[in-house]
Amino acid sequence: MADRDGKIWMDGELVDWRDAKIHVLTHTLHYGCGAFEGVRAYNTVNGTAIFRLQEHTDRLFNSAKILRMAIPFSKEQVSEAQKQVVKANKLESCYIRPLTWIGSQKLGVSPKGNQIHMMVAAWAWGAYLGEEGLQRGIRVKTSSYTRHHVNITMTQAKAVSNYSNSILANMEALDDGYDEALLLDSSGFVSEGAGENVFVIKDGVVYTPDLSAGALNGITRNTVMHICKDLGIELVQKRITRDEVYIADEAFFTGTAAEVTPIRELDRVQIGIGRRGPVTEKIQNAFFDIVNGRNPKYAHWLTRV
Ligand code: PMP
Repeated sequence: MADRDGKIWMDGELVDWRDAKIHVLTHTLHYGCGAFEGVRAYNTVNGTAIFRLQEHTDRLFNSAKILRMAIPFSKEQVSEAQKQVVKANKLESCYIRPLTWIGSQKLGVSPKGNQIHMMVAAWAWGAYLGEEGLQRGIRVKTSSYTRHHVNITMTQAKAVSNYSNSILANMEALDDGYDEALLLDSSGFVSEGAGENVFVIKDGVVYTPDLSAGALNGITRNTVMHICKDLGIELVQKRITRDEVYIADEAFFTGTAAEVTPIRELDRVQIGIGRRGPVTEKIQNAFFDIVNGRNPKYAHWLTRV
């Protein structure tokens, strides 16, 4: 990804894509303490707009707070930076990646004495789990890796280090011929996907694990909660067992990258009709209406660039 034309916002200025570099003795590279966001901009009916920019920026600052990192820019500056990279790279719809990391002044586990850095990049990125996955649903494997316990790496931070867990789970699932992994928490209850929150539907009620299962407080998860309320669909946050997913009528993943992706199979067990179910389709359509600017109720979630 490094060999491209374009601009990346780095510590307050736009630099050439190929020059957006850091030193090999960067603290975060060695010890994994850093935080990031995944944000999307859509080519809406009113032009290019970033979806829930404020919520993503707030979560980035909360992640940094949890990791005791003081981002040396204001939320306004970081929000502006996200708009700037979309514009500077002439992107109509794209994925945006803000990241804050600890610098290279010194190594050793204690990060004290290091500068905190911030960057924002953006690039075109289609359906994360494939266009076909969005339509037909994906095949998921329950991971042999346990999701982080809430008192180990801090699950409400979108921390760089949390993703070694996601990578292991995702690699295992892909090597075994699946599309994505589903992780259980340390008590064996359903937590989330490697990069997605999970929902199941049974008898018309939508269920999702509560955050004590170690799942990230997903912004798409929250969007789906609003959608369910609008559609008059009951939504319950609760502990969910693996076998409840097997016998669910429908299931889906949510995430900024994954959007709303139906799950058609878990561990070779077909879920419901084995393809996108009717409730998932309704929620998915409502989601794409919102992000594409077709639902005026949520116009305030779209920030024009
Ligand atoms: N869980 C994990 C582990 C993730 O990486 C993501 C993607 N950010 C999500 C859930 C979904 O969060 P969001 O909807 O805010 O993108």
